[in-house]
Amino acid sequence: MSAINRPPIVTILGHVDHGKTTLLDFIRKSSVAAKEHGGITQHIGAYQVEIPKESKSRESEANRGILRLPSVAQDDFTENRKITFIDTPGHAAFEKMRSRGANVADIAILVVAIDDGVMPQTIEAIKHIQGAKVPMIVAVNKIDLPGIDKNISLQKLKKQLSDQNISLEEYGGDVPIVPLSAKTGEGVDKLLEMILLVAEMHEIKGDPSQSPTGVVIESNIDKFKGPIATILIKNGTLKKNDQIMIGGIKGKIRGMFDSSGKSLDAAGPSTPVEVLGLESVPQVGAVLGELAEVKEAEAIQSLVDKLKQGEAKTLKVVIKADKQGSLEAIEQSLGKMNEERKVIDFIYTGTGDIGEENIKLASTVGAIVIGFNVKVASTAQKHADTEHVLIRTYNIIYELLEDVEEVVQTLLEVGQLEEVLGKANIIAEFPHGKNEKIAGCRMIEGIIAKGQKIRIMRDGASIGEVKLKSLKKVKDEVNKVEKGNDCGMLFDPIVDFQIGDVVESFRVI
Ligand code: GDP
Repeated sequence: MSAINRPPIVTILGHVDHGKTTLLDFIRKSSVAAKEHGGITQHIGAYQVEIPKESKSRESEANRGILRLPSVAQDDFTENRKITFIDTPGHAAFEKMRSRGANVADIAILVVAIDDGVMPQTIEAIKHIQGAKVPMIVAVNKIDLPGIDKNISLQKLKKQLSDQNISLEEYGGDVPIVPLSAKTGEGVDKLLEMILLVAEMHEIKGDPSQSPTGVVIESNIDKFKGPIATILIKNGTLKKNDQIMIGGIKGKIRGMFDSSGKSLDAAGPSTPVEVLGLESVPQVGAVLGELAEVKEAEAIQSLVDKLKQGEAKTLKVVIKADKQGSLEAIEQSLGKMNEERKVIDFIYTGTGDIGEENIKLASTVGAIVIGFNVKVASTAQKHADTEHVLIRTYNIIYELLEDVEEVVQTLLEVGQLEEVLGKANIIAEFPHGKNEKIAGCRMIEGIIAKGQKIRIMRDGASIGEVKLKSLKKVKDEVNKVEKGNDCGMLFDPIVDFQIGDVVESFRVI
């Protein structure tokens, strides 16, 4: 089998309170699947909807010559009428996934409330979308609001959007605008049609016969089911009983469910599925499979880890360019980012193609490799793949600078995001062995499990990061404890805790 059209994966961004959640909810509730399942949908981080073929707006728009109906076979046509929505709005989530899994989304919807117009987070969202080079559709929301002159407000908004370098369709550009109300539902069908149309124009393809690739968009641990992750399949097919490796975590797919809770045996391109059977909880953004962008994602991921382990939060770079002149220009421009504080560390700069020795150096120090007008030797590429070294090559300096700036920004942001997963009070201590002691703990929040990152907190500050060498509930060694339970913990390395300290498990997002 070869590549066929797959449903577009859509994400919604925009200023707070402009109606992202309301819109996502409206679409989810009005979807065919939701109706079939009595409106009960689970939150798994994404959902898929099927747009009924007899949608009026499509026909009427088509009659007006706005929409071009696809000239494909009927089956293919039906196939094309699905859309996958990522259900975690906001650009933090978008960036998080983008920084790990390259572009999870194929299309971005920018929601702007008609009464507020372009606001600071709208501008931020626009930058994210433009940076990701993802096609955009503007949804002008809240057109139902009383006391709003729709025409005047729309004109004003279009001007604001143009000022943000958005080239609107009606001014000859490629960004459509759809006025709607997420509250009453007016115009939502037009948005869905527009998504299908944009998807069609961008030829979003997938090949179900390939081995599966995808990205974790949500994960948690369930009391009864164990680790659960929602994987958004980008290509290939994930099947029940498949052995997988995702973000370094092994698993065998014991069960797979769609967002309406229906059990699936196989999930193809663009399908979000909740999977059971992983050995532990993967991070959001962890990747499955061998996509080129997955490789890049892993490279960034390991870079982020290295940065976090190190004291200095700098982006280490190895730069190769075709000529001394261009090398100097790049160094000089990148050097400007160091003016306020040092963010870029030039490990090596030189002329000529990117060779294996450059990758080895980059891998040792945790650097990225940037090439300008140069090629990558195939041995170097192989080495980079196994060592998770990120290579980026450019022909335009401006693009190089823009990308580096973005990576710097992402690293700075990502390095600071953490989520606490569980907390326990140390309420007793018992000597153990020669110089160890066991912490008698009472779980007060969430879950603490072996393998998680754990730290001991005193007066709100960490006194050390540890691993769980042993975790016991009464006499039994267990893998995890949950809120409300008492347990004994033995830490590695040995840490001088006191009664009253708090054990915290966390993950870095
Ligand atoms: P988010 O922060 O972008 O996710 O915004 P929400 O979806 O939470 O919406 C913010 C507020 O705007 C809520 O009180 C919604 O009820 C309201 N809202 C959202 N969409 C509409 C709409 O189309 N019309 C009107 N009148 N209110 C809306």
